[in-house]
Amino acid sequence: SSIFSEVPEAPADAILGISVAYKNDKNPRALNLGDGKPLVLEVVREAERCLLDDPKQDKEYLGQAGVPAFCRGSAKLAFGEDSPVLKEGRNATVQGLSGTGSLRVGAEFLAGFYPGVKQVLIPNPSWANHKAIFEAAGLQTAQYRYYKPATRGLDYEGLLEDLGAAPRGAVVLLHACAHNPTGVDPTREQWAGILDAVRDRGLLPFFDSAYQGFASGDLDGDAASIRMFAEAGLELLLAQSFAKNMGLYGERAGALTVVSADADTSARVESQLKRVIRAMYSNPPRHGAEIVAAILSDPELYARWKAELKGMADRIISMREHLHAALRERGTPGTWDHIQDQIGMFSYTGLTRRQVADCLTAKHHVYMTLDGRISMAGLSPESCKYLAAAIDDAVR
Ligand code: PLP
Repeated sequence: SSIFSEVPEAPADAILGISVAYKNDKNPRALNLGDGKPLVLEVVREAERCLLDDPKQDKEYLGQAGVPAFCRGSAKLAFGEDSPVLKEGRNATVQGLSGTGSLRVGAEFLAGFYPGVKQVLIPNPSWANHKAIFEAAGLQTAQYRYYKPATRGLDYEGLLEDLGAAPRGAVVLLHACAHNPTGVDPTREQWAGILDAVRDRGLLPFFDSAYQGFASGDLDGDAASIRMFAEAGLELLLAQSFAKNMGLYGERAGALTVVSADADTSARVESQLKRVIRAMYSNPPRHGAEIVAAILSDPELYARWKAELKGMADRIISMREHLHAALRERGTPGTWDHIQDQIGMFSYTGLTRRQVADCLTAKHHVYMTLDGRISMAGLSPESCKYLAAAIDDAVR
């Protein structure tokens, strides 16, 4: 017997389970719509070649805050070139282990130093890891209404009601763009309403930006929500990931920014972020952050990245059009405009668990999460037709 014999089996990761089931399916038409399709960008290869040839590159430890040019570049990417936050030195930006690690460092910082209510409001639904990350840092979590199944859109009234009824001074997690898993984002006017609600209730916004540039193909457009809050003078937190928009998944390149009211506070915040990092993993990995820094600081590489990113975003938008058209062609019962209206890598089809399990997957070999979410990145014009036929079969 083992000291650990009472350790219960942890629940399996849903997405990994889908990939395994897909790999075991020998049907040539099988389709994996579980997660994204990692692809190495040309500009990333180019940046890596430059790094290899650079005699100044070594394997020395980074400081706790990571690559300085990466941190500066990340903050500029999110807040914009002329951001008053950056000009006034009101941001403490540190490198984190991609989006997840940046959220976690932010959560640990809040657990140690946030004088407000240590409860994080998370949209319902949200990326499954949000709850786990905040709770692992000792913060409480609660949900606010976000998605409305009836319209397959935003439950704007419910959202405002829930934020209005939240404990004063609680933390609210906001997806900056391309909400995962629903693909439903607030409009600009709705963001303005959310900002008012956040301000009225004295909530602390914590933005999760995992898809900047991936949603619309426009880096500035996808950061509009963050900039709106920053320009309104709010203090906030921001976790950024370069997993999707630079395809750096396994390199774990991300950043955490804490925006404070003045530069003096910001410097002290940064010193504490470093202390949090020191106790968790001392310092972050170099390679991914050096790639990002190279791309963000070289005008030519930056231009090439923007073009490749736009290509990825446009491809996803065009798959939405293909799938929407294929469903309309078939006269599939129900409304499917949400397929085209939703934003980013994922689409919430509205299919039920039973339709997904019994029909899409069991009968048609389409692998996707049981909540009806599909990754648009896993589709091609041909497979859109196949998927439309399978959806048609499921809903009739
Ligand atoms: N936040 C959201 C909403 C996500 O969808 C993801 C990835 O799927 C992440 C954060 C973090 O990903 P990573 O840690 O790979 O950057």
